[in-house]
Amino acid sequence: MHEWALAEAVIAFLMSASHGMRRVRCVKLRIGELYQMDMDIFITALHEIAIAEDSKRFADMKITWEKEKALFKCRHCGNEWNFKRREDDEENEAIHFLPELIHAFSRCPACGCPDFDVVRGKGILVERIEGEQQ
Ligand SMILES: [Zn+2]
Repeated sequence: MHEWALAEAVIAFLMSASHGMRRVRCVKLRIGELYQMDMDIFITALHEIAIAEDSKRFADMKITWEKEKALFKCRHCGNEWNFKRREDDEENEAIHFLPELIHAFSRCPACGCPDFDVVRGKGILVERIEGEQQ
């Protein structure tokens, strides 16, 4: 059910970000690859929660999204690399719910250091909101 919790957080943001708009026409999202969530459920949840909050403002809202590739950077040697899916489903499941856990499963491929930053790919970003002002 974490798609619904995330959708609620995004709509809470949209509510304040679109304050003063009569209608929201189009919302563009960028979804971090580490979330690996069910986008159909997420988009449905966004629409349902938005309509429940404000049936007029969000009646014609279109939602588009693109995936943001994860990028890691080693704190030791500065090497950067992308996320590779593991064969082990349980690991993927854990990472899906808690992106921070990636640290427990990954090492820098260049120097083997476990100390690295997640530069991109673990957030949900609202890139653009288009609508009609009041
Ligand atoms: Zn390194």
